[in-house]
Amino acid sequence: MSAVRAVALYSGGLDSALAVLTVMRQGIEVKAITFLNHFGCEISDQSSCSKNPFAAASRFGFEVKLCHLSDKFIDIVKNPKFGHGKNMNPCMDCRILMLREAREFMEMTGASFIITGEVLGQRPMSQRRDALNIIDREAGLRGAVLRPLSARVLKPTLAEEAGLVDRQLLHGFSGRSRKPQMALAAELGLTEYPAPAGGCLLTEPNYAFRLRELLDHDPDPSLPDLHLLRLGRHFRFSSRSKIIVGRDREENETLLKRYDGAGLMLGVIGYGSPITLVRGDAQEDVIAAAASICVRYSDARNLSGATVKVVRDGREYSIEAPPAADDLIGRLKIEKKSVLKGSVQVIG
Ligand code: SF4
Repeated sequence: MSAVRAVALYSGGLDSALAVLTVMRQGIEVKAITFLNHFGCEISDQSSCSKNPFAAASRFGFEVKLCHLSDKFIDIVKNPKFGHGKNMNPCMDCRILMLREAREFMEMTGASFIITGEVLGQRPMSQRRDALNIIDREAGLRGAVLRPLSARVLKPTLAEEAGLVDRQLLHGFSGRSRKPQMALAAELGLTEYPAPAGGCLLTEPNYAFRLRELLDHDPDPSLPDLHLLRLGRHFRFSSRSKIIVGRDREENETLLKRYDGAGLMLGVIGYGSPITLVRGDAQEDVIAAAASICVRYSDARNLSGATVKVVRDGREYSIEAPPAADDLIGRLKIEKKSVLKGSVQVIG
């Protein structure tokens, strides 16, 4: 008799690892799939939804396949059917998309059902009982998604009804406490696991604010522009041009690496200077503003002016610029502000 097989949505975090191990304990073969996106769910990024998915997999002996959601994910970020969460995170649509992709993988691999590490009530948007039902329905997987950590407080799935999985050996966790998961991890010998994270970059207020601002001006931003949202101070000069200024050595190095020849790069000559990029249209007025902002954040900020190198289309020239005044900075800087009792407070 061939083994029962399941596909797991697997982030590499504690809950998804426990879900996998719980069904593996029943002799079920698990093929895990880890989804990546452009907003922080990358293997190297420990602040994202996806942790290193290979650690537990190699220790406990299950396969992991990586799948990048790329443009499909960007589409749901821009226009989610079920709306955004507190920030720009379209968690419901995101789960639906991942399950749809997993369904294809399930059909390809001859698996009978899908498992996830979701815990009822753990996250406000996508892990409510009604949300889980909607997600399964929209993914075309009604009754086919087993959530081993909460199964006993959820309706039995088709796999349980068919006797492929023993419901009695599943769990009934719910709510935000992680103590039951930690106890289960100890029981299963899962000793090393990452701390829980809040989600991808889209859940971060400042990143979400920058992204919304970008989409307001450019509904179809390029990938480099999306990646640049993580770095530096951002200034909006016009609907077609932005200025980005590195905040420290590390950001400057990254900006330098990210400079793809599109737009302009500026730096103050002879003084410690931030890497400054101009994205989009680069007319003389934008260049003058960028040079001045660059001086403002350089070691020449207290001088009346400095010489700024401009790199454009592989050619270099220099211009003189004064440090930008506060009102220019205040007018152009893209930052989340909230009004508190008549005063303006900058968030983050
Ligand atoms: S935080 Fe939400 S939108 Fe971001 S990857 Fe996780 S489920 Fe998807």
